[in-house]
Formats: sequence, C-alpha cells, structure tokens
Amino acid sequence: MVDQAGENTQAGENTRAVHSPSPPVFAQRPLGLPVYRSSTFAFDSSREFADVLADRERGYSYSRIDNPTSDTFAAAVAALEAPGRDDISGQPFASGMAAITGVLLAFTKSGAHVVIPRAVYGGTYALLSHILSRFGVEFDAVDMSSPDAVKAALRPTTTVVWAETLANPTMAVADIPVLAGLAHEVGAILAVDSTFATPAICRPIDYGADLVVHSATKYIGGHSDATGGVVVGPAELMRAVRAVRVETGSTLAPDEAFLLHRGLATLPLRVERHCANAQVLAQALLGHPRVVRVDYPGLPTHRDHALAARLFDKNRFGGVVTITPTGGRDAGMALVDNLSRIVTATSLGGTHSLASHVASTSHRQFDDDELAAAGIGVGSVRISVGLEDADDIVADVLAALDALAP
Ligand code: PLP
Repeated sequence: MVDQAGENTQAGENTRAVHSPSPPVFAQRPLGLPVYRSSTFAFDSSREFADVLADRERGYSYSRIDNPTSDTFAAAVAALEAPGRDDISGQPFASGMAAITGVLLAFTKSGAHVVIPRAVYGGTYALLSHILSRFGVEFDAVDMSSPDAVKAALRPTTTVVWAETLANPTMAVADIPVLAGLAHEVGAILAVDSTFATPAICRPIDYGADLVVHSATKYIGGHSDATGGVVVGPAELMRAVRAVRVETGSTLAPDEAFLLHRGLATLPLRVERHCANAQVLAQALLGHPRVVRVDYPGLPTHRDHALAARLFDKNRFGGVVTITPTGGRDAGMALVDNLSRIVTATSLGGTHSLASHVASTSHRQFDDDELAAAGIGVGSVRISVGLEDADDIVADVLAALDALAP
C-alpha cells in the first residue's frame, strides 16, 4: 500500500529515480516515533504553503522551523513537566546550551539584567560573560541560597532570574517558590535549569517557575549517545523562545530527537535507580577517614536536605554525589585515577558511572577563592552515579580512597 504519487513511467531513469513513490500517509498511529529525516515538506498548493509558513494552518514546511519528530520529543517533555496542562508546551533545541541561549536571547536586550547563581553551570556563565555582555546584557552572580542576596541583586531592569534545581557539583537545592516570588516582584521571569533533577524528581512549574530548561543530553537521553535540549513553558513565553530557535537555527535534529524521546520512556525507572545508588554511595562514605565532605541532598547532613525533601518526589535526591577527600587538589585527581570501574569522563545522567575532578575540569576557570565561594573544595570529585549495582560502585570508590597516598 504505497502511495504512487509522483511515479511517472514515461519519464527518464534519473527523473524516475528522483521522483520515487512517497511514503504512505495512513490513519493508524505508529507506536514507535518515526524519524522524519526530511529537511523540507511538499504541499498540495501555494495557498497551503503560505498558510503553514505564516502559522495560519498547522503543518510542516522546513525542519529548521519545525520537525514532527523533534516536536513530539519536546511535547513529551512538556507533558512530564506539567501533567494535564494544555497551556504548557515545549520547544526542541540542538543542545542544552542552545536551549539556554534560546531563553536568554528571548528575554533580554541591551540594558537588561539577569541574576544567576554563583555556582551556575559554566556554559551559562560563559554565554553571559563572553557573548551576551557584548550586546549590553548585564548580570550578577549571587548566592541563591540567600533570598536577601537575590533581593539585593534585583534591579528594575532585571528580566530573568536564573536558577538550577540542583547545582553542579554542590547539589545545592533552589528554593523555587521563594525565587519565583522574588522574580515576579520586579516583573522578571524565573527560568530553571532542571537538568540535574528531571521531571522524575521535581517539576519547577508546579512551584511557580515560568520556564524550565534541560540539557536532554544527560538524564533525559540517558545513554550518552545523543545531544539535545528543551525549553518548557506557557504559550505567551514560548512564542518568543520558538522565534529565537527558528531564527538562530538551533533546532534539534530528528535523529537526536528519536533517541532522546526513547529515553523518556524509561526516565522514571532510571532516575529512581540513579537516586537509590547515589544514596547508598553517599551513606557509605559518611565518616570515612579519607573523606572531608560528601555533598548529597539525600543525606540529613546536607544543608538543603529539608528543602529537597519538601520539593522533590518520592525521596529522590538526584544521581550526583560529590566527594571531597583529604589531601587537597592532588588527592582529588588521584582519587579519580584510582577508580577502576567508574569512568573518567565529563557529562552525567547516563548508564555508566562517571567521575571528574571538579577544579581541573568543569570549574577549571575558578581560582581557589572562587571555588571556596561557590562551596567547592580544590579536591572535590563529582560522581555521576550510573545504573550499575550499588555494591560495585561503592567498592570501587572505597578502593580508590584506600589507594590514596597517606
Ligand atoms: N545545564 C547543565 C546543568 C549542564 O550540566 C549542562 C552540561 O553539562 C548544560 C546545561 C549544557 O548542556 P549541553 O552540553 O547539552 O549543551
């Protein structure tokens, strides 16, 4: 049952090769997500072409503008972030950084001001300090755990307050209801990078956030094999976000969207396991003679444990544990090198446990004072706890600690 439209047995062989039968359009819905790997879409009339391009009619014209596979992925994330809310939609981006860029370009202009956390993801900081600052966008980096510090930083020109549900690598928890209240007092939006949390742990829109941003490269994809990002929020804000995505050409490719969408089906199962394994690891390290500090909000000793218990679902506190060994910078690097099963690599949220020495990798631009101000030790090691058996993860870390020089 192939649609024979376009077949022309009178034409030459090249014409027949190019104008092969179109794929069928049929009523039954495929269970798997089709990959619409087509950069352009054919119309029956110029009128329909014009109406779709002008958004007068729903449809697809060109994949930089919209692609059915990528749209389905973004809609699926929106459905998890805001269950049952038809007014909330998603926009698919080529990476987490593209999504962050989409939000900041949509809601800033020359003279606008943004408030960010002091320990914000390095790419977000670089975007503001190296690029958007050249276009007159101003920002302040503050201690987001202090409402007074946030309040003091707000200006009449503040258009965006930026938070991370769980901060990298301290696992500090954002008090989203308080931050939303502060942002709204000055007419700013609260945008929350929820990459470390995912909707399987926390849904910031429920707590008053205006926009949620994800690097889908991490837990959403979950297998370290695809790069993407997504922004979720209400229609009145998403129009501006979509416009930036379309005009800057930072849309998500359909092949990546397929992989990221497939990850969503197992997101709660995987996140549950990441969190359970991380809790076991964090508890096993408490009181260890070679460990100065364990940052994990599932521990009652973590400064934000009570806040996390209030905002997060089902005792899920995230899949990242940050360990600071005794012995400073060298000990941190040696700890990573001593691991045998846990892989030395950047990124997080995939099947494999990964480790990185924070001060020489994700926060290499910070000097020792800046690290201290952000609550990070010079020897801190971030572990993205994977889906292996918890006992094997714990054994690997304990053996690596034992092997540290006295
Ligand atoms: N936000 C957070 C919290 C991240 O950790 C990362 C990447 O590590 C990003 C955004 C950027 O995502 P991507 O690498 O997909 O651009």
